[in-house]
Amino acid sequence: MDALQTEYPSAHQWLSGVAPKEKWVKAFFSPHTCCDVILNNICETFNSKIALAQEKAIISMLEDIRTSQMERIQIRGQWIKSYDHAVPPVIKELVDKWYARASSWRATWNGQSSYQVSGPSGQYVVNMRDLTCSCRLWQLTGIPCTHAIATINKNGDDVTRFVSRYYLKSTMIMLYENVLYPINEVASWPKSTADGSVELAPPRSKRQRGRPET
Ligand SMILES: [Zn+2]
Repeated sequence: MDALQTEYPSAHQWLSGVAPKEKWVKAFFSPHTCCDVILNNICETFNSKIALAQEKAIISMLEDIRTSQMERIQIRGQWIKSYDHAVPPVIKELVDKWYARASSWRATWNGQSSYQVSGPSGQYVVNMRDLTCSCRLWQLTGIPCTHAIATINKNGDDVTRFVSRYYLKSTMIMLYENVLYPINEVASWPKSTADGSVELAPPRSKRQRGRPET
């Protein structure tokens, strides 16, 4: 930030004011969501899925999206039930990666709930009562960091027991039990009788010059 102040003061001002650091610096993210994702890839993924539907009129577009979501929920729900591990693959991959590094860290117990964990790149404090590590990765992601894993291993415990419930297979199963229900064609939908309900006229459109892109 100091370097930015010299290089580009207005950017520095914007980042310190309009864009509070809690929104763009991982170190200041709230641990509440157990998510350290800083990109908007999730929107891009959604956009690519609805690319065809986007070109349609509003009702047809929403119907296409609803139908594809109905199927997606069914496919995901069926898949997770048959998946044979306590945490889904993306989380398992992270756990495995951090697990592999844990053997080079040594945890020393203080006799209560704290551990001092030393290793090749420093020394941290793991608290097994609060489920925190001073590196903050555990709180931030909901997945035990290498230091926490070293501690869990020392106690002969199972790492997946300490992964946030947000990321458990059992939570995913519950999540995908909320299915969408099939509905009849538009012509058989009941007319709205709600106060202030209006008949929607088609949009007034002016034909653009040249051949339209879509
Ligand atoms: Zn840590």
